Amino acid sequence: MTDATDTDTDTGTPLLDHWVGGAPWRGDSERTGPIHNPATGRVSGRVRLASAADVTSVVARAAEALPGWREASVARRQGVMFSFREILNARKDELAEILTAEHGKVLSDALGEITRGLEVVEFACGSGHLLKGDYSDNVSTGVDVYTLRQPVGVVAVISPFNFPAMVPLWFLPVALVSGNAVVLKPSEKDPSAADWIARALAEAGLPDGVLNVVHGDREAVDALLDAPEVRAISFVGSTPIAKHIYERASANGKRVQALGRAKNHMLVLPDADLDLAADAAVNAGFGSAGERCMAVSVLLAVDSIADALVDKIAERMAGLRIGDGTRGCDMGPLITREHRDKVAAYLDVAASDGARIVVDGRGVVPDGDADGFWLGPSLVDRVPTSSAVYTDEIFGPVLSVVRVSGYEEGVAVIEAGPYGNGTAIFTNDGGAARRFQREVRVGMVGVNVPIPVPVAYHSFGGWKASLFGDTKAYGPQGFAFYTQEKAVTSRWLDPSHGGINLGFPQHD
Ligand code: NAD
Repeated sequence: MTDATDTDTDTGTPLLDHWVGGAPWRGDSERTGPIHNPATGRVSGRVRLASAADVTSVVARAAEALPGWREASVARRQGVMFSFREILNARKDELAEILTAEHGKVLSDALGEITRGLEVVEFACGSGHLLKGDYSDNVSTGVDVYTLRQPVGVVAVISPFNFPAMVPLWFLPVALVSGNAVVLKPSEKDPSAADWIARALAEAGLPDGVLNVVHGDREAVDALLDAPEVRAISFVGSTPIAKHIYERASANGKRVQALGRAKNHMLVLPDADLDLAADAAVNAGFGSAGERCMAVSVLLAVDSIADALVDKIAERMAGLRIGDGTRGCDMGPLITREHRDKVAAYLDVAASDGARIVVDGRGVVPDGDADGFWLGPSLVDRVPTSSAVYTDEIFGPVLSVVRVSGYEEGVAVIEAGPYGNGTAIFTNDGGAARRFQREVRVGMVGVNVPIPVPVAYHSFGGWKASLFGDTKAYGPQGFAFYTQEKAVTSRWLDPSHGGINLGFPQHD
C-alpha cells in the first residue's frame, strides 16, 4: 500500500483513506473492506467504503474545482501531464510493486501495464489538436462559423480489479487534459494504485479537487450514477454491471461508456507457423493468470493441425513457473480465494461435459506461500460450445480448445458468441487475414498478434455485449467522449445588416 494515513484500530492494519481535495479524507462511513496480498492469502490492509453521503461530498468538491481547471489554458493542462509523465516514468517500479502486492500479477507484467498507461499520458501531452475546433470563413456574406470543444464537467471513472493502474490511465489523462474534474472509484480489491496515481498527479501540479479518489462498492457507484453534477461515466468491469451502469446513468441523462466482459477467440489456420501460434496462445492465455479482458480464452484450431498445436502448447506450459510475483515467476496467483475456487470448478464442469483436460492446473506447486490464491494454467481440449466452460467468461488461467473444420466454421463460432472484445487470426495467408479483419464482428482484431490492444492514438473498445455506449476509451474517441462541441455563427455588424425579416435565416 502507499503511505495510508490511518490505521484500523481493531486490527492494526493500514487503512486507506479516500483522496479528496488534494489530501486524504475519511468521510463519514464506518464501513471498510479488506485488501489481500493474493500471493500470501493474508490481509495486508483495509480500505474505506464510502457511503452515498460521502460520494455527494466528493462530487461537490470536484464541482468546486471545475471552473478553475476548465478555464486553465491548454498549455497549463498539458504541462501537468508532462510533469506527471516524468514522475510516472521515474517511479514506475514503486507503482509496479503496489500492483504485484495487491493484484498478484508478476512484476514484469505490472511494469507492462504501467507502460501501456504511460502511453496514454504521453498521448494526452500532445493532443492539443484533438481539442481544437473547425473554422469556416464567410459561409454567408460576412458570417463565419466555428466550433469549440469544451469539457463535459465533472466526470466519474469506475474501474475493475484486473488493471488497477492501466484502466484508470485509459481515462484520467484524456479527461483531465480536456478540462474536466474527475471522481475515480477504483476496485476495492486493489485500490492503492489509484491513490498512488492521485498523489503523483498532485505532485505534478494538478490543482486540489480536480482529481478525487473515492473508495467503495455498489453504494458508492450507485451514488455516482445518480449525482446530478456528474455529467459522464466511464466504467470498466463485468457485463451485468456494465449494463446496469449504462441503463441507470443514461436514464439520469449522463454520457456513458461501459466496457464489459470478453471471451476472445484465436483462430489458427493450417498454414500458420504452429510454434509461433503455440507461443502466442500460452502468452495470451496465461499472462496475468488469464485475468485480462483481452486474454485469449478460446483457441479455435482447425482439425488437421489441432493435435499438433495442443501438444506444442502443453509442452510450453510444462515450463511455466507459477508463484509469487516478486520472485521472477511467469504467472502469479488469482485475485481472491473465491475467484480461484470458482475458476478451478470449471475444470470439473469441463470433465463432466466431455472435454479432455490436457493440463490440470489444480495440482500446481507454486513458488510462494502455501496460503496464496494459486491455480496453475490449465488446457482443456475438445470443449463443446454448449459447455459453460465455453460460454462463460472464466477470467482465469484456463485455455479452451474448440476444434473447427476450417475458416468458415471458426468465424461462425466467433459470430455466435455474445461478446466482441478482441480476437486474433494466425495464418500466413494474407487473403484469409484480410477477409477475417473485414468480416468478424469484434472491436479489436489481431493478425498474428494475440492481444491486439490498440496504441494510445487509436481507441480501445469492443463490440456487442463488451461495450455499452457509442464511444471507446482513449484515442480520438476518448476526446469525443470527454468534450462537447459548440458551434458558433458570428458576424460583425455594419449598417448593411439592418432591416426586419422574420423568415428563417438563409445564406447569400
Ligand atoms: P466488476 O464488474 O466486479 O467490478 C468493476 C467495478 O464495478 C468495481 O469498481 C466494483 O467496485 C464495481 N461494482 C461491483 N459490483 C457492483 C454493483 N453491483 N453495482 C455497481 N458497481 C459495482 O469487475 P471486476 O471483477 O473488478 O473486473 C473484471 C471484469 O472486468 C471482467 O468481466 C473483465 O472482462 C472486465 N474488464 C473488461 C475490460 C474491457 O475493456 N472490456 C477491461 C478490463 C476488465
